[in-house]
Amino acid sequence: MEHDAQALAQIREGVRGLCERFGDDYWRRIDQAKGFPEEFVAALTQAGWLAAMIPEEYGGSGLGLAEASVILEEVNRCGGNSGTVHGQMYNMFTLLRNGSEAQKREYLPRLASGELRLQSMAVTEPTTGTDTTKIKTTAVRQGDHYRINGQKVWISRVQYSDLMILLARTTPLDQVKKKTDGMSIFLVNLHQAIGNGLTVRPIENMVHHITNELFFDDLKIPAENLIGEEGKGFRYILDGLNAERTLIAAECIGDGRWFIEKASDYARQREVFGRPIGQNQGIQFPIAEAHIEVEAADLMRWRACREYDAGQPAGASANMAKYLAAKASWEAANACLQTHGGFGFACEYDVERKFRETRLYQVAPISTNLILSYVAEHLLELPRSF
Ligand SMILES: Cc1cc2nc3c(=O)[nH]c(=O)nc-3n(C[C@H](O)[C@H](O)[C@H](O)COP(=O)(O)OP(=O)(O)OC[C@H]3O[C@@H](n4cnc5c(N)ncnc54)[C@H](O)[C@@H]3O)c2cc1C
Repeated sequence: MEHDAQALAQIREGVRGLCERFGDDYWRRIDQAKGFPEEFVAALTQAGWLAAMIPEEYGGSGLGLAEASVILEEVNRCGGNSGTVHGQMYNMFTLLRNGSEAQKREYLPRLASGELRLQSMAVTEPTTGTDTTKIKTTAVRQGDHYRINGQKVWISRVQYSDLMILLARTTPLDQVKKKTDGMSIFLVNLHQAIGNGLTVRPIENMVHHITNELFFDDLKIPAENLIGEEGKGFRYILDGLNAERTLIAAECIGDGRWFIEKASDYARQREVFGRPIGQNQGIQFPIAEAHIEVEAADLMRWRACREYDAGQPAGASANMAKYLAAKASWEAANACLQTHGGFGFACEYDVERKFRETRLYQVAPISTNLILSYVAEHLLELPRSF
């Protein structure tokens, strides 16, 4: 499936226009206050960009992954941080693909209008990390509800969301044939849950990603909040990951382009030893190298979008795009910081902020090693290592 270049250019222009209202000083202020960009999120929602992938019959625009990826790329390209909003795009998708018609009718139109936010997804646990099938959080059915007990870690945007998708084990690991069976996903109403079995403890961290530890102590949730079939939750979560990885790749490409432009501008203007520092190849080459890598990563991102939007298997391209783009944006961040010398460390240049923000994507939502392991095992048919 080829994408409509003109339509994509219009989206790019529209998002860029919106982002102009939220300049570097806005994002710097939010970062320093460890706050949340409420005004930006409201503007993005009102303009309909956050509902891009919600089908028209549920109040969204019914666009594909390619269009959604351009939206997030542009936010980062303009100096912002899509990490504050991207959750809704992935999480909405899990609900859309696996929820019942009643759930979709109840929630999707309200997500599209901005009345509700579904910005959080709780998968990671402190004792099991990437080994997701070993999660210890349990959901036990009792009549018309489930009781949730356990703990999660690094769960983002909980304070700024109305709903959260939760992965919990409904059948103990030693009672399932395959370790990926027996887990389920639920929609948690955060307003009802917090203080009634759910405790949220923020984690101070390097980026202004509002992220938390969650403690579940007999949290009661209605059985009707189960998404899809009991026991198939892990499969549903995996299903959304290719979209998530492609969108993160696009965000990294946006970051990469921001760093390259910022570094090139500075290198042209800054004069040391009586000439612009950009005249030295020692300054030019790392920027040029980063540019080549960002452009190469972008090709893989479009391959992933094309496959995904055509309904073809996109796992290989999505993982490789995420790997290449996260690496390229990090290389670009390093080149940009080095080009700025000491000023790279000054908050008012925004380089150190974006440097911290883009570094996250080598670790979350999936770490680089786990992508390499996927490629080795699934594409190169090397023996499974764990
Ligand atoms: C700011 C932030 C926000 C986040 N938001 C969310 C969220 O909203 N929801 C959510 O569910 N999670 C979230 N996460 C969690 C994130 O997805 C995990 O941190 C990530 O998947 C890595 O898991 P871990 O931290 O448990 O690392 P671990 O699994 O403990 O791994 C530690 C390191 O060892 C490596 N490693 C582990 N096993 C192997 C192996 N077999 N071979 C080679 N290397 C290996 C990993 O690659 C990693 O580098 C967030 C994390 C951060 C930092």
